[in-house]
Amino acid sequence: MARKKIIAGNWKMNMTPSEAVKLVETLKPLVKNDEVDVVFCVPAIDIVPVVEAAKGTNIQVGAENMYFEEKGAYTGEISPNMLVDAGVKYVVLGHSERRGYFGETDEDINKKMHKAFEHGLTPIMCCGESLEQREQGVTMDFIRQQVKIGFQGLTADQAKKAVIAYEPIWAIGTGKTATTEQAQEVCGKIRECIAEVYDDATAAEIRIQYGGSVNSKTAADLFAQADIDGGLVGGASLKEEFGQIVNYK
Ligand code: PGA
Repeated sequence: MARKKIIAGNWKMNMTPSEAVKLVETLKPLVKNDEVDVVFCVPAIDIVPVVEAAKGTNIQVGAENMYFEEKGAYTGEISPNMLVDAGVKYVVLGHSERRGYFGETDEDINKKMHKAFEHGLTPIMCCGESLEQREQGVTMDFIRQQVKIGFQGLTADQAKKAVIAYEPIWAIGTGKTATTEQAQEVCGKIRECIAEVYDDATAAEIRIQYGGSVNSKTAADLFAQADIDGGLVGGASLKEEFGQIVNYK
């Protein structure tokens, strides 16, 4: 069975609620494509208006983070229930900016992965090496650890439904996209890692995205690679260009 591509925008900390609604209105006609899953991952405060603005379209809404507890004294956090109740379907977990600026660990991310599945949310789990790690030749050692700990204790049925976003840190927001060969090589190895931890069937089903300076010029080549099932797009998801990325063929 061919894997359906998933092309997700990661808005990061951009767009006020009113700007968010305008952007959805602009992108709505441009991101029509039933052959791919189209997801807008938006700041927490934009979720409700974006869900409303995207009603009746092919746009699905994702969060950029969530906490792993159900509720309680966790000032400033958002629970999985809150996301589900607001109409969210996907949640980005373990983005390198969350890991780097907010100290998220693989163990935190693993707890969040479990919670996401408990609540029927599809996690988009990010992994990826720094430039230093790539130069030291430890890219795959590092990513295998991120994937193995992130997925610890999840069943094969859960793993099959997850999305992994391979995002080399040196390519994020830098305009420096990994070459298609580099991206395919790592995504292929991530799939092998899933096959080792689970089995071939799980590895064949799980969707693996590439992220890091994806744009309308690089999307088609990247998404044509055997192990790249779409992209997680930052900067270019805030522009009309996102329509071309979604309709990359
Ligand atoms: P970028 O961000 O496309 O702006 O490089 C990608 C991401 O961080 O998800």
